[in-house]
Parts: sequence; structure tokens; C-alpha cells
Amino acid sequence: MPITPCAALTAHSIPRHIRDMFEARRQRAAPDACWLWPTTGSYGQVVWTDADGRRRQEKTHRIAVALDGRDIPPGKLVCHTCDNPPCCNPAHLFIGTHWDNHWDMRVKGRWLRQHPHLARGPSHAIH
Ligand SMILES: [Zn+2]
Repeated sequence: MPITPCAALTAHSIPRHIRDMFEARRQRAAPDACWLWPTTGSYGQVVWTDADGRRRQEKTHRIAVALDGRDIPPGKLVCHTCDNPPCCNPAHLFIGTHWDNHWDMRVKGRWLRQHPHLARGPSHAIH
């Protein structure tokens, strides 16, 4: 079966009761801190049924971005600048591509931790 791209996720596509539930469960903190979804170390997930009866499943950090007023186009990812999957602070989230996610992962250090001799800065990183 071909993979069909997810529909765009916008604030309007999220039902009112899901928004209310999301705001009630998201653990708001200081503006620059991580706002954690109460899951253990991974992405939170929310499931609802659309007005047309289709089941919809979205990760909580994507909902955080949509409710922040940023529409997520089909096929785009939402990435964390804080590298903390349960975080739902819109200030820590950006819309990107698979490549952005991969690059972001590298510059944040997962990759550099394995290559400490390349961690001195961009001018030394590329040979
Ligand atoms: Zn965060």
C-alpha cells in the first residue's frame, strides 16, 4: 500500500475538546524551559475522530506547533531544538524536512559526540 502523506495540521483541524485536553495535560513551565507532555521519554500522541469520521493520530509536539498558529504542511516534520521528544513548548519547535531533522540532530551533538575530534567548529569540521 502506498504511503499517503498526512493531511496538513492546522489549529482549525484540531477539535475543541482535543485542544482543551491538550492544554490541560501539557505541563507549562518558564518560557525557555521544556513544557513536557506527561509521557516517559518519548513523543506523546493524541487520537481523535474528524468531523467526517476519519481517525486522526498526531504527535503532541505537532499539535503544540499547530495551536501556536503555525500550519504544518503535509509531509513536513516538527523538530525539537531541545532534543527532548516529550517537549511541547512551541518556542522549542520548528517545522522542517527530514533533512533538517537529520542536520539538526548532527549539529546538536549526537553525531559530534561520536566524532569529538570534529567538534571544534565548522572551519575544522569539513576536510
Ligand atoms: Zn524543549
